[in-house]
Amino acid sequence: MNQYDVAVIGSGPGGYVAAIRCAQLGMKTAIVEKYDTLGGTCLNVGCIPSKALLDSSHHYEEAIKNFAEHGIEIPGEVKVDLQRMIARKEAVVGQTTKGIEFLMDKNKIDVLHGMGSLKDATHITIEQKGKTQTIEAKNIILATGSKPSTLPFITLDKERVITSTEALKLKEIPKHLIIIGGGVIGLELGQVYKRLGAEVTVVEYMDRILPTMDAGLSKELTKVLKKQKMALNLSHKVKSVARKGKEVIVKADDKKGQEIVLKGDYCLVCVGRRPYTDGLGLEAAGVKLDDKGRVAVNDRLQTNVPNIYAIGDVVRGAMLAHKAEEEGVLVAEQLAGQKPHIDYNLIPGVVYTWPEVASVGKTEEQLKEQGVSYKVGQFPMRALGRSRASMDLDGFVKILADSNTDEILGFHMIGARAADLISEGVTAMEFRASAEDISRMSHAHPSYSEAVKEAALAATGDRPLHI
Ligand SMILES: Cc1cc2nc3c(=O)[nH]c(=O)nc-3n(C[C@H](O)[C@H](O)[C@H](O)COP(=O)(O)OP(=O)(O)OC[C@H]3O[C@@H](n4cnc5c(N)ncnc54)[C@H](O)[C@@H]3O)c2cc1C
Repeated sequence: MNQYDVAVIGSGPGGYVAAIRCAQLGMKTAIVEKYDTLGGTCLNVGCIPSKALLDSSHHYEEAIKNFAEHGIEIPGEVKVDLQRMIARKEAVVGQTTKGIEFLMDKNKIDVLHGMGSLKDATHITIEQKGKTQTIEAKNIILATGSKPSTLPFITLDKERVITSTEALKLKEIPKHLIIIGGGVIGLELGQVYKRLGAEVTVVEYMDRILPTMDAGLSKELTKVLKKQKMALNLSHKVKSVARKGKEVIVKADDKKGQEIVLKGDYCLVCVGRRPYTDGLGLEAAGVKLDDKGRVAVNDRLQTNVPNIYAIGDVVRGAMLAHKAEEEGVLVAEQLAGQKPHIDYNLIPGVVYTWPEVASVGKTEEQLKEQGVSYKVGQFPMRALGRSRASMDLDGFVKILADSNTDEILGFHMIGARAADLISEGVTAMEFRASAEDISRMSHAHPSYSEAVKEAALAATGDRPLHI
């Protein structure tokens, strides 16, 4: 029987990063993955393929909407070849998952394909195609991720009533795509198909899209999406989804209790994801779940069984790839006797619509709720020369700073390249910068980052220079 210092179950961004860090720190490491390709949800059916389709559809939209104004003429009609677009996405996924195989090999990590199940606290059985092998590990890291969840009355047929996984490989552009859920995944995929020509209707239970982000961001994105002609039905409670041949009928009640009936050819259900522990054998090892079905962990990501840890989507906290990665590193370094730390307040959240939306730290709603006295500095993207040059005028940067100390408490932005700009907010907050600090740093001109400096100037008093 093969023996390891650490065995990781699940090869998503949590699992593979944990395995690499364990190997770097000199531990004999194995990683168990039930699918043929490594990389988990993120690389196979999540972050990477969705961004590949967002990029392709963005190019198409630019070509049909903005090229002429840039003085670029395209003879003939610009057409979408969806199958080629999907094939390119598959190629990007293939290159990226192969990259993880290379990293496993480079770090001398044993990759064991098959369904991993805890036999007890130190043994894992791995079953593939009727063959079973057992390995022994001093420490085990559970990184089994999540799966799309649904509502109890919805039958996901995966043809017309679909999850994000199927939406990433449709064979045709929907005529009318109805999306249940106005969160990150629903809006990103909605924008892909909207750009490609579908009518898109979002039905959201809460009174705003992106309900966990700063309300100012929701409001601005709502304005932009409406301009793009995406229909948003907020405060609507879906009560049934039925399929009739090629038609999907969604019924919902608005906040006055009035029924609306939507008819489309596809319904994408994006109501969240559930932690995935099916077949993992938690009972055999005595590992407990919390009241939300996640693997229960303490601050050190240790389960109730001391040598078994859990990270990523399968535990509490934001379901984000980079959060899973940080947790993988934290567990590995702890096992090596180090004292790592994660500040969960500083894990950024990004929505890759266009304009992009990004946030880190506290929202205004949270600060109000906590009774913190804060000031706001906000600067519109449209006042930047860089935005005019690229015709990306929507959005703003908003900085929230403590009224007494000027320490930055939250960074919220919507606009071109916000996904990359948010790193400045994370860096600033990691070093506990004040708004004054940012306002006195040189920001390259012309760049979108000038909006960050201007928002900091606004937060420190009435000092913005370009408005
Ligand atoms: C459409 C979509 C877009 C997304 N976009 C982003 C984004 O832009 N940015 C971002 O940060 N996050 C994004 N996410 C979320 C991100 O994918 C997850 O947060 C991330 O993948 C979680 O990583 P993980 O390692 O915890 O689990 P996962 O990536 O889910 O990996 C878990 C792995 O464990 C394997 N596994 C499970 N059980 C077993 C078992 N018993 N034996 C063996 N193997 C097993 C699974 O097959 C899987 O490969 C997106 C998700 C979706 C669905």
